[in-house]
Amino acid sequence: MQLRIGNGYDIHRLVPGRPLILGGVRLEHPGGLGLDGHSDADVLVHALMDALLGALSLGDIGKYFPPDDPRWRGADSLVLLEQVVALVAERGWTIVNVDSVVVAERPKLKPQIEAMRAAIAARLGVDPDRVGVKATTNEQLGPTGREEGIACHAVALLQKP
Ligand code: MG
Repeated sequence: MQLRIGNGYDIHRLVPGRPLILGGVRLEHPGGLGLDGHSDADVLVHALMDALLGALSLGDIGKYFPPDDPRWRGADSLVLLEQVVALVAERGWTIVNVDSVVVAERPKLKPQIEAMRAAIAARLGVDPDRVGVKATTNEQLGPTGREEGIACHAVALLQKP
């Protein structure tokens, strides 16, 4: 059996007048902020996509979904994730597990974590117990700590018989 590991990272700016979508789930920011971006700016799903692509050295999401392409304006990142999962499957690889950590001061993610895991697992085609979603604050340090943005780190493990 062959194994491959990949990691991904993403950050998007927090701005007024935009939705806050993480792991495919709409959240309410107490400051009325959402994530800016060409697509729905779901940093969690973007980091996961880069981890999956990275495991197979397939490049990054900018290669497949360029931000200057009007097709991806307002795109549901879970739909983009499905396309990445298809690239993985086409090459004969299956997902062992993924893990992630979202760096955000607010809102508290805990009430929505199970919904995020379920939404991601459904698109990955795996059980939710193979999808780790964790949250941390940045202790008010740096751009995430000042609520200038929300960031996410992710890893993915793939196997091939
Ligand atoms: Mg992104």
